Amino acid sequence: MLFKNKKFERSVILKKEVLDSILSFCQMKHPNEGILILKGKSKNGEIKIDGLVIPPFSETGPTFAGFPYSFLPFDMSYVGIVHSHPSGSAEPSVTDLHNFFGLVSMIVKSPYDDDSIFAWDSNANAIPLSIE
Ligand SMILES: [Zn+2]
Repeated sequence: MLFKNKKFERSVILKKEVLDSILSFCQMKHPNEGILILKGKSKNGEIKIDGLVIPPFSETGPTFAGFPYSFLPFDMSYVGIVHSHPSGSAEPSVTDLHNFFGLVSMIVKSPYDDDSIFAWDSNANAIPLSIE
C-alpha cells in the first residue's frame, strides 16, 4: 500500500497596517487579553489577512479572552481570530485550541512589537507568517 502524506502547506500573509492595528489594540487592552476577528481570504492554503472586526459581546481578563461565537453572523471572510497573551507566552493554551475559530489563530505576546505575533493552526502547529 502506498500512502503519500502530502502535507497541506499553509501560510499567513498579514498586511502591515493590520499588524499595527492589532499591536496597538493589544497594548491598549494590556494587562488584559485583547481579542479580534481576522478578516481576509484564503486560497490554496494561503491566508491573506486584510482587516479586523471587534467581536460582539467580548469578555476579556488577564488570562482569558473570548466571545460567544453564536452571535457571529455567517461570514466567509472571517478567517480566524487573534488574541493577546499579556503573560508573554506565544503558544496557544488548551482553551485556545478548544475555542479555535476559522483557519488560523494568531497570538500576540507582550511586549506587542513586530516580532511578538505568531500564527497557529487547530493542532497547535506554527503557520509561517509574513508581513506585507
Ligand atoms: Zn490564549
